[in-house]
Amino acid sequence: MKVRSFRLTRQLNLILVCALSLFMSLAVLGFLRAQEPTQASPLRWVAMGDFGSGMQAQQKVADRLWETYQHTPYQFMLSLGDNIYPIGNIKKLASDRIETPYAPLWAKGVGFYPVLGNHDVIAGFGPAQMAYFKMPGRYYTFSKGQDPARVEFFALDTNTFHHDRQQQQWLRHALAESHARWKVVYAHHPVYSSGKHGSSKALSETLKPILEAAHVSLYLCGHDHDYERFQPVNHVEYIVSGGGGASLRQFDSPEPGSERRLSKHHFLLLSATAQSLTIEAIGVDGALLDSVILQ
Ligand SMILES: [Zn+2]
Repeated sequence: MKVRSFRLTRQLNLILVCALSLFMSLAVLGFLRAQEPTQASPLRWVAMGDFGSGMQAQQKVADRLWETYQHTPYQFMLSLGDNIYPIGNIKKLASDRIETPYAPLWAKGVGFYPVLGNHDVIAGFGPAQMAYFKMPGRYYTFSKGQDPARVEFFALDTNTFHHDRQQQQWLRHALAESHARWKVVYAHHPVYSSGKHGSSKALSETLKPILEAAHVSLYLCGHDHDYERFQPVNHVEYIVSGGGGASLRQFDSPEPGSERRLSKHHFLLLSATAQSLTIEAIGVDGALLDSVILQ
């Protein structure tokens, strides 16, 4: 009887030791898992230019923007100008060109951060557009995301930039003060383009040196109704995205450094982490037209 009870106690002890070891192992595993760095989700946004035409193409791009949002949500939209054709009349056309096409995105709180294109200011509707979109000024800056993956945006008015010393000085200072991981400058007019309007000598003399000196990651613009990506010039990536809904145009002979040219309606989907900034051009059928990763 004594021997039997001794065996039982031994078995119980063994079970206890096993259970304790299992519990300790699970606790250690849990602790280690808690120590692993959590992978932060990227900051996502979209960009498009030359869209407020009221044509079917504008609605097609808008539909694809909404479709994309539903499986890959993004936070906001950069408008690269020519928000309303032909003369920027926001008072008359806000509902038709802005509110109706992008209604599902507005409802989700996807805000617009616009710049003014030549069509937006041609008849003096610039201030009315600024008031409508609640723009802090013709040029402004804002920051999104968290360090170490923070992105700082610098919106310009390139209708005047080449002779606007005050704006040039503002950009120099704003860039110098920025400690964001990614600096994205955007405006309506291209520095480089093989499209109908082409490259701008005035901007390559006034804007390009500022972008390079401040190690800007990316310059986005529209104006030419196409998509074009250049090889980085002194570490700055230049992309034209003017395919948001106005009539498409063909290219002239390629400018030096032009890497990808497409005469297609599209928008850009961008995402930033601390390690990389990914830019994808998405067509109206959802096809990935081009992509580039900056590191
Ligand atoms: Zn334009």
